[in-house]
Amino acid sequence: MPDLVNLTIDDLQIAVPPGTLVVDAARAAGIDIPIFCSHPKLDPLGACRMCLVEFMGPRGSRLDTSCTVRVSEGMVVRTDTEQVKAVREANLAFILLNHPLDCPICDKGGECPLQDQTMEYGPGFSKFIEPKRRKKKHYPISDLIMLDQERCILCWRCIRYLEEWEDKPQIGLFERGGETLVDVFPGQPVDAKTSGSIIDICPVGALTNRVARFRYRPWELMRVPSICTLCPVGCNTRLDERVHELRRIVARENPAVNDEWICDKGRFLHQYVDHPARLTQPMVREDGVLRAATWDEALHRVVEGLEAAIEAGGHQAVGGVASARVSNESAYLFQKFFRVLLGTNNVDYPDGSAVSATPGGLSAITAIGKSDVIILAGYDPSEATPIIDIRIKRALLRAGAALIVINARGIELTRYVDDKRVNKGAYLPVTPGDEAKVIDALTTAIRQGQEQAAKGAKKAADKSAAPRLVQIAAAVLGAAKSPLILYGPDIARGARGRANVTALSNLATTLNHPEALAYIGAEANSQGARDMGMLSNALPGQQSVAEAAVRERLGKLWGAPPPAEPGVSYDEMLAGRVKALYVMGANPAVEPAAAETLRGLDFLVVQDLFLTETAQLADVVLPASSFAEEDATYTNLERRVQRGRMGVTVVGDAKADWAILTDLAGHWLAVEAAHHAPEVVAEVPDWKAKSAKRGRKARAGSGPEHRPWNYGNARHVYEEIGKAVPFYTELRWDDLGELGMQWSAPLAPRQPRKAEPVEVAPLPALPDGGLWLVSGPLLWDSGVLMEYAAEEICNLIPPPFVALAPADFASAGLTEGDTVTVGSEYGSVSLVVRADDSVQPGTAWIPAGLVGAPAETLGARRAEPVAVTVAR
Ligand code: SF4
Repeated sequence: MPDLVNLTIDDLQIAVPPGTLVVDAARAAGIDIPIFCSHPKLDPLGACRMCLVEFMGPRGSRLDTSCTVRVSEGMVVRTDTEQVKAVREANLAFILLNHPLDCPICDKGGECPLQDQTMEYGPGFSKFIEPKRRKKKHYPISDLIMLDQERCILCWRCIRYLEEWEDKPQIGLFERGGETLVDVFPGQPVDAKTSGSIIDICPVGALTNRVARFRYRPWELMRVPSICTLCPVGCNTRLDERVHELRRIVARENPAVNDEWICDKGRFLHQYVDHPARLTQPMVREDGVLRAATWDEALHRVVEGLEAAIEAGGHQAVGGVASARVSNESAYLFQKFFRVLLGTNNVDYPDGSAVSATPGGLSAITAIGKSDVIILAGYDPSEATPIIDIRIKRALLRAGAALIVINARGIELTRYVDDKRVNKGAYLPVTPGDEAKVIDALTTAIRQGQEQAAKGAKKAADKSAAPRLVQIAAAVLGAAKSPLILYGPDIARGARGRANVTALSNLATTLNHPEALAYIGAEANSQGARDMGMLSNALPGQQSVAEAAVRERLGKLWGAPPPAEPGVSYDEMLAGRVKALYVMGANPAVEPAAAETLRGLDFLVVQDLFLTETAQLADVVLPASSFAEEDATYTNLERRVQRGRMGVTVVGDAKADWAILTDLAGHWLAVEAAHHAPEVVAEVPDWKAKSAKRGRKARAGSGPEHRPWNYGNARHVYEEIGKAVPFYTELRWDDLGELGMQWSAPLAPRQPRKAEPVEVAPLPALPDGGLWLVSGPLLWDSGVLMEYAAEEICNLIPPPFVALAPADFASAGLTEGDTVTVGSEYGSVSLVVRADDSVQPGTAWIPAGLVGAPAETLGARRAEPVAVTVAR
């Protein structure tokens, strides 16, 4: 730790690290210096002069901006002199000269730094009676943000945020002197994916949220700290509720996770929580149509349906698929319900057991800023996790890290590979399904370089037979001291995915940094779902179902051990391997093949927020609450367990997923109890008697004594998780606080391992005229929650399209905007076609989750590469 610098502020002696700005030193000491342009997360500017303080010296004092002056030994500062007070007052009078006094209709009114500081330091009256200068009133600078130039005080915070964090200079100052104004560049709306951050940091109401405008007054809001559940970063947020409605979401500071930024999806997409289309009561199918039912009746139907399937086809005939967006508590009880009560390991989520994931994800999100080489393999942070994207940009532009992109498409961050401001990197294009080959070539080139360097050869990389780009990447990586290798589900599915991940693991081993390899899941609680055992091949604690000792330990906790027979995966269940299916929060029916399977099931239960495509096919529909309506925990991509809190009242009769499962278990156990003690039958309602009779026939004289599920709240479930998952034991509910806690990573490889052979089948031949399908996430896709988004957000979803490399586009004689038919062995879709130079020749790019699910229809989620044809 460097020596501290001693200084005095307002007679208070303090010691701070060298380089600290005086304004920050004062804040750390609890002394408030008013600011507008200064911001702890932005570079110093000194534009507004509000933070002027007096620096005392032997030859008198001087006024200077405390946001630009750094501390020095023996410095003496006064923030409360008459001179300081006078300049503050004058400054505010000057700002208010032209600032409109429209506080009563300004969204910022009530939480406006200009308002607050005027009250505290301002003159109390104005000497000016002349008309104020007129500028452009509220107008959109994007689909999400409104700008009012008259309110702007020219602090540059918005400009600096977009430049310093997003590297997207999309707002600027125009004109000169008193005419200076803030604006976007002509015809270029702001499109940064964390653009809403500028609303939070604007010190006045110049930038406002188009979705939330006029829907609240700040003093009316109930503010609840929460967690975003739209991606695995788990940004810290605050839910602002008014009259039982979620009015807006803003960022909450957590330096380890999201600093104080959130992405636009996390900020603006919340209308689904209060949407009138929300399911508010259970439904059961009768005479082919869904009708409203009581919870008792609906849960009875679920027990009956699952029992009937088990009677007819055994325990392996039932299965459960869920979304990894649900909380730890819900994921834990889901797998427990299937394992303990239904006797099957058939439980999974879309990128669950089929994906080769690192056990512990990223070592820490802050590790990105300390990394000197970042490899992105089949992972597009700009679309999947915008907060990771801005952290990567900071690492590249501020810390001098290099970037290597391994992807079938030139993702947005690929632009930094040739950027002169960034240390040299490379883009290694790959053919879908053949990634392991390129990764292997890279590892071989590095190894050769290491061997030649060990022998004292001078130009190691030059002697490699690897392609030039691989040589460049190998040279950069060979010198890496703190590399990071991030990969996503798109290159980790199935056997080819296993080979890819083995190749990446070998690369990390060769670099002597096995801990560098990190899987970034697709959904908010991908890590938590793994930890909770919501997988067909693993139990809570990520322990294999084959481990007898683990089954025995869990059996003692649960009253009955989980079955030893491995379950079938999500894809296998959706391919018809079960007869009855329980779907919690997932919507597999958007894929036509899966919808076909669902239609053919004997019994289907769907638990969700909306009547999704899958719910429309169900025999029983159970209304679930949203993340904003429940207390729960989620585990983010760096193993941080964080608490989300109930911010709004639950709609109708909906319940938290874990609560529904608890009630369902109660119904199930009532039937069991009736079966074991027939006299109870007389005391239970009719339906229980009926079920009990059938249960008696099927299971007479057998079965363990199940323990009742006495979970009164999420905390009770979490406490049991602490007993089931060893690495959650220390993370007690009360200790999670508002910033969460990381579980330590005993499962992650910390010691260099031996490189393993990479076995991958050669790619099948591409049919004549065929192209390999490439897919991946878009931030603004048309996922189920987007369907219920505000109009402004819906405008951001691109219409369905297919993009081809310019050469393929030209050779097919296509023109921009043509409608083409794209076909594969799994289906065919009509799409608008466009040329895109980020697309590699020989491939066709269709983003995942577009309206009508074209990529999914063509088979984009299949583990094997999919060939498509494009015809007019
Ligand atoms: Fe500052 Fe707001 Fe004006 Fe941007 S719009 S310069 S953040 S006052």
